[in-house]
Amino acid sequence: MKKRIAVLPGDGIGKEVVKGAIEVLQAVGERFGHQFYFSYGKIGGTAIDAAGTPLPDETMELCKESDAVLLGAVGGPKWDRQPPHLRPERGLLKIRKELNLYANLRPTHYYSSLSDTSPLRKEVIEGVDMLMVRELTGGLYFGKPSERTQQNGEDAVVDTLFYQKEEMHRVIKLAFELARKRRGKVTSVDKANVLESSRMWREVAEEISNQYPDVILEHMLVDNAAMQMIKNPKQFDVVVTENMFGDILSDEASVLTGSLGMLPSASISENGPYLYEPIHGSAPDIEGKNAANPIAMILSAAMMLRLSFGMEEEAEAIENAVNQVLDAGYRTRDIASFGKKQVSTSEMIEEVKATLLDNEAILNIMGAYA
Ligand code: NAD
Repeated sequence: MKKRIAVLPGDGIGKEVVKGAIEVLQAVGERFGHQFYFSYGKIGGTAIDAAGTPLPDETMELCKESDAVLLGAVGGPKWDRQPPHLRPERGLLKIRKELNLYANLRPTHYYSSLSDTSPLRKEVIEGVDMLMVRELTGGLYFGKPSERTQQNGEDAVVDTLFYQKEEMHRVIKLAFELARKRRGKVTSVDKANVLESSRMWREVAEEISNQYPDVILEHMLVDNAAMQMIKNPKQFDVVVTENMFGDILSDEASVLTGSLGMLPSASISENGPYLYEPIHGSAPDIEGKNAANPIAMILSAAMMLRLSFGMEEEAEAIENAVNQVLDAGYRTRDIASFGKKQVSTSEMIEEVKATLLDNEAILNIMGAYA
């Protein structure tokens, strides 16, 4: 198969981890006989520096012409004082809107080899397998007005939480479809005791639930969900929620796997191309130190193979290689623990590649621990 992939490394560690995804995909191409064509575009602070805008038109064109988009991360202190329209994150919001990426899928599952890196007890996290479905193109991050203002001569500010009912409908329906292929449970997270938007969200979830008698629907207030995710994360199968709640809860979910550097994501639209990115940011504190964990980005590439290209076996090959490397004791700094071998970003990428290309490589790795 031949596929065109738009690659947007972005800022900070985005560049370092994207390199990992590309090299691993090249290894997949070599092993399975596919040709992946990578074309690079700018986004975020890098694009502001080069073109004066966080999302240049050429980048959008490139994405629209491609079969899928891989994105690293954007942002950094260099651009923190920019006016709102010239902030790196604005590029991220715009690409989501322009590609109509209405749902962000964030799987979280338990890695037995990482049980010692989670702050939670093994018996709490063992067996966690959760899929967060976050609405991505509505809510507070897009509603207008969003501005500083004046009220009675005093400084004031407004952000707007706006949703059309249809925007809620399509993402909640997707959650039910996904639950049907998993363990058949949807937890819809809202703040219906306070917010009118959440009361509509709940009604829509109930309406859709009538069409899915085989799927259990439960409602949970977001504050309770934040607690339950730590207290009893195994209760969750598919969690669906609006944009900002999903943003916050999925970072919380990363604690379950041990690090933000482990969580991949896929953003999907009705007509494609889909976009794949790790859930973490540009991590300026470790930029340039060859210390970032590339696994979230590599697993995002695996999601791309599965969801955009229908390459299930190839996606599993990447996931198995990651599991084997972790089982063999290789750890980047964020998931390091006593008795394991700490490696750099580039060493972790090499291990995953070698394992993918030649299963004998893993035997050599294990030999080093014998
Ligand atoms: P962050 O996710 O960049 O970092 C949070 C912490 O996690 C840091 O200590 C960082 O070192 C660590 N971390 C993150 N990814 C890691 C990885 N792969 N390996 C090892 N450690 C990792 O969040 P932040 O510090 O709040 O934000 C930094 C910048 O990133 C800001 O400009 C923010 O706006 C931006 N951001 C971008 C995205 C995105 O591009 N999707 C998401 C979140 C934040």
